[in-house]
Amino acid sequence: MNVTVLAGGVGGAKLAHGFALCQPEIDLTVIVNTGDDFDHFGLRICPDLDTVCYTLAGLANPQTGWGRKDETYEVLRCVGELGGPTWFRLGDKDLATHLERTRRLSEGQRLSDVVTAFCSTWGIKARVLPMSDDPVRTMVDTREYGWLDFQNYFVRHACRPTIQKIAFEGIEQALPAAGVLEALEDSDLIVIAPSNPWVSIQPILSVNGIASMIQSQKAVAVSPIIQGQTLKGPAAKMYREMGIEPSPVAVAQHYSTLLWGLVMDELDRGFESTLMSSGIMVLSTQTIMQNEQDRLSLAREILTFSQDRNPNQMPRREF
Ligand code: GDP
Ligand code: CA
Repeated sequence: MNVTVLAGGVGGAKLAHGFALCQPEIDLTVIVNTGDDFDHFGLRICPDLDTVCYTLAGLANPQTGWGRKDETYEVLRCVGELGGPTWFRLGDKDLATHLERTRRLSEGQRLSDVVTAFCSTWGIKARVLPMSDDPVRTMVDTREYGWLDFQNYFVRHACRPTIQKIAFEGIEQALPAAGVLEALEDSDLIVIAPSNPWVSIQPILSVNGIASMIQSQKAVAVSPIIQGQTLKGPAAKMYREMGIEPSPVAVAQHYSTLLWGLVMDELDRGFESTLMSSGIMVLSTQTIMQNEQDRLSLAREILTFSQDRNPNQMPRREF
């Protein structure tokens, strides 16, 4: 069975890991957001790709979910002594990834080739693909500061500014990375991870050809919103600032006509009937992944859920 997961960073990586633990029973591809990518100290930094790869490789920092475990920050400390910027936390081991990636890119390698090479070194069995090899940069228009590039908003300003608009610079020219459309086309199941719908999943869906390919397949999304809140990050705050009450229903509406099913936390069971009356399949279960077992259990439940109904009877919801 071919499973493709669409993922941002921490939330996406956890569920991708759950599916990775189902290998070799399934064949796994993970398509990762690159809208968060940026250049810092002349280095190309790809936060979501690195979070996914470190997590799948067992190298991730278990406390933060991002960055590497057993990390030190000597380089950044010395940069600070020299008066350089330290707001973006770059560990020493993590820096090696950015140095080597930047070197390979400057030699003309594609980002997808660099990711494949790193995954092979790190012993990652899943196929990890950036959504695009072309640069896409998420920008947020804030009431306080006007347009900010994403890491400036997300890390430097700790998501405090009020968002008015979100844009993905370069999206019109961006083509899916090699293998992305093929993986989607060959999928028996596409899983939209519980990543931020606005800034982790929307960039992927906005790349030319990706949404229309998903539309013709069986897709489920896992809600990152639980009881009107996120476990981490600004997704719920973004819904409110955009004038939408954050809930699993809002998440289902966000993905519009793409979904066959929605997976939401059992704490949100109250929304089941609204969702089901719109024709969507619903799985309410424990979606908070606190450990490896939770990740695996959720992935297995989604696999069972998706096999529940005949794919030829795919309902399409109307809200
Ligand atoms: P980022 O790129 O690191 O910000 O991470 P993502 O966009 O992939 O994920 C952030 C979202 O994941 C947030 O909205 C969180 O609420 C959600 N999230 C994180 N962990 C979990 C979890 O264990 N279960 C669910 N359902 N959502 C989660
Ligand atoms: Ca991210």
